[in-house]
This record gives sequence, C-alpha cells and structure tokens, in this order.
Amino acid sequence: MSAATYEGSNIFAKILRGEMPAHKVFEDDIAFAFMDIMPRADGHTLVIPKAPCRNLLDIRAEDLSALMPRVQKVARAVKQAMQAEGLTLQQFNEQAGGQVVFHLHFHLLPRWSGVSLRPPATQMEKPDVLAAHAEKIRAALASA
Ligand code: 5GP
Repeated sequence: MSAATYEGSNIFAKILRGEMPAHKVFEDDIAFAFMDIMPRADGHTLVIPKAPCRNLLDIRAEDLSALMPRVQKVARAVKQAMQAEGLTLQQFNEQAGGQVVFHLHFHLLPRWSGVSLRPPATQMEKPDVLAAHAEKIRAALASA
C-alpha cells in the first residue's frame, strides 16, 4: 500500500494558518499547543508540529526531535495548571489506528485517581471553560 500524503486542508492546518480559532496555550517556531474542543478530561491539550506531516509515521526524525521537548514542556504545565495527579499521552496513526485529524498531534490528558477519560469526540466544551483552562496553562508555562 502506498503511503498517504499530507493534506493542507485539515482542521489543524487551518488553525496553524489562523483560518480557524483555537484556545492557544503555547507557540514557537516548532510547535503549537491548544485546547481540544471536545476534551476527554478537563485540561485536554493538543500539541502539534508546525512541520506539515500526517502523523508519527511520516514526520521527519529531525522535526520529531525538535517537537518532543515542546510536548514535555507543555505536559508539565498542563499537569501543574490542572493540579492533576498524573497525565496520559495519546497519539493515533491513520484511520485504523484511531486518527481522525491528519496533522500529527499529541494528546495531553490530565488524570486523577478514579476519574475515567470521557469517550472521544462526544461533547463540545463551553468556550469560557476552554478559555479558563488555557489561561491556567499559559500561566504555568510563564512561571516554568
Ligand atoms: P484524533 O485524530 O487523535 O483521533 O483526535 C482528534 C482530536 O481533535 C479529537 O480529540 C477532537 O476532539 C479534536 N478536534 C477536532 N476538531 C477540532 C477543532 O476544530 N478544534 C480543536 N481545538 N480540536 C478539535
């Protein structure tokens, strides 16, 4: 089977180009991080590379190497800001692997003992809740 190609029409590419809104928590020349619109946990954050790639399978090794320290930096801030006890990292590849949006993204999911993740893509969060969580995470990043 031939490798699938990157399509610049995906929703995260539109967010990166500023064509769609997002509750941003972090941005530099390598990465962009923002609140998931249908969070599976309070504070569910997505980190994406600015490099155009579908997923883990096609990102260039050097782009992945640059991205991962940003994923770690945002993960620490998400855990701290949400006063979480733990954090789950998820990343899906291709439709059969559970991927829905075909621009590489890492899910950062704050976790608390006894609190299950909500099912994926079930409920849109209120914009003011997403804004409040983003504000807390930005503050944690600023104090890191
Ligand atoms: P995956 O591709 O890893 O299965 O998940 C895609 C994720 O993107 C889901 O968690 C979904 O809630 C999130 N998502 C889908 N559309 C949007 C959007 O327009 N804005 C934001 N912020 N998140 C989105």
